[in-house]
Amino acid sequence: MGLFRLIFLGLIIWLIVRVVRALTAPARQGRSPRHREAADSGREARTKGQAEIPAQRMVRCAECGLHVPRGEAVCDGERCFCSAEHRDRFARH
Ligand SMILES: [Zn+2]
Repeated sequence: MGLFRLIFLGLIIWLIVRVVRALTAPARQGRSPRHREAADSGREARTKGQAEIPAQRMVRCAECGLHVPRGEAVCDGERCFCSAEHRDRFARH
């Protein structure tokens, strides 16, 4: 009978674990994973957008007047250009 009691005890413990998991996990995760995901991505996009504003400053091409992100612009001292070609063309003026 000792083995039966052990199995029975194990079954009860397993059952308790399952019940506790069923009570705690879905309450936090299962209710609205899509909602949370949307909120997280929205927050992420907002913080990303805020972070990108100072990094992606637009500069004006001195040759054609096109506005290009600072990271993509070709800068020569104070002047910035949309491409190396325009930088060269501006130098030839
Ligand atoms: Zn240009």
